Amino acid sequence: MQSLSKRTASFTDSVIRRMTRVSNQYGAVNLSQGFPDFDPPRAILDRLAEVSREDFHQYSVTWGAQNLREALAAKQSHYMGFPIDPDGEITITCGSTEAMMAAMMTVANPGDRVVVFSPFYENYGADTILCGAETIYVPLSPPDFRFDPEVLEDAFRQRPKALILCNPANPCGRVFTRVELEIIAALAEKYDAYVITDEVYEHIVYAPHRHVYFAALPGMRQRTISCSSLSKTYSITGWRLGYTIAPPEITDRIKKVHDFLTVGAAAPLQEAVIPGLNFGQDYYGALLAEYTHKRNLFLRGLDALGLPHSTPEGAYYVLLDISEFGYDSDLRFCEDLAEKVGVGAVPGSSFFREPVNHLIRFHFAKKDETLLDALNRLESLRAKIPAKGKGAERICRI
Ligand code: GLN
Repeated sequence: MQSLSKRTASFTDSVIRRMTRVSNQYGAVNLSQGFPDFDPPRAILDRLAEVSREDFHQYSVTWGAQNLREALAAKQSHYMGFPIDPDGEITITCGSTEAMMAAMMTVANPGDRVVVFSPFYENYGADTILCGAETIYVPLSPPDFRFDPEVLEDAFRQRPKALILCNPANPCGRVFTRVELEIIAALAEKYDAYVITDEVYEHIVYAPHRHVYFAALPGMRQRTISCSSLSKTYSITGWRLGYTIAPPEITDRIKKVHDFLTVGAAAPLQEAVIPGLNFGQDYYGALLAEYTHKRNLFLRGLDALGLPHSTPEGAYYVLLDISEFGYDSDLRFCEDLAEKVGVGAVPGSSFFREPVNHLIRFHFAKKDETLLDALNRLESLRAKIPAKGKGAERICRI
């Protein structure tokens, strides 16, 4: 037999998805893969029930149903602060995962360089490999997860084709300030690079932080492919609905890439989500209030247990410092945590380019009772996994 593709030979299975399987195996409370265990909004579910009896069972327009694109354009124009053309500037994709892949394939040639901040969401590495591109990693260093502008400029001096910007950031919870984004914008301009954003947590930004859409910065719209998703905003991660927003000449190409990748997102689900896109600001306010409550509940619980952690500015992830347990492998720690304590987490090493082994990631997009169950189980952490390290020297509080 001939060998399989060299390009994919280095792939491991997704550690995030793997930890969900490990959690299920041990009946652990799964705080690893980030998805809610509460229901999507009623209006969306009611529409879903109706849609099954309507005529939405065949392909939709490949780049997204007209009425969905119109509803999305209206909503995003409002939040992003500039008019978006539903016909020329939007492509509906199978989740933000496909949006990012389509964006990368639209921009990058084999051998091109792409800047990625580390820690990063694991798909970006795979996206780069699938495009045959090379990654230049720029650290967001704990404890505050900020980048060094000099190091970033060094990366741009290598003439990257694009920078990937996850904001709010998974897993570190950073919400980049306008000043930080302006530094990135100036470098993108100076070195003529595209910026591909992943803004799936755009509505989960905790006060006093504010989300600034990169494409809304002066001069950036023309070089930005904004990728996002309906998964987190409407608690429908399994529906796989995402999108890109980009200028017409870029969107024209994304539409073709998307067409050959997937033909289109599920037609009935595109139709069913539309009531959500028509929600007013009260919906987004309530979503944020709910996540703020969950964040506070979970972080207070970790504080009460004396477990050092990051404080997310946005998104729904928290990094826990496990130095005191003295493990050489954070993956092994997460396996023990699921088996012995009954809580699922993702090893931090799967997000970092650097040899970081002392952090694990929990998410808190769960019902209060689920979070309280997890905290309750974590009370026995030190009894079941005795401390043998030097103590949490590198507390990742931000
Ligand atoms: N973005 C989520 C996470 O980081 C879910 C990832 C996935 O499995 N698609 O956990």
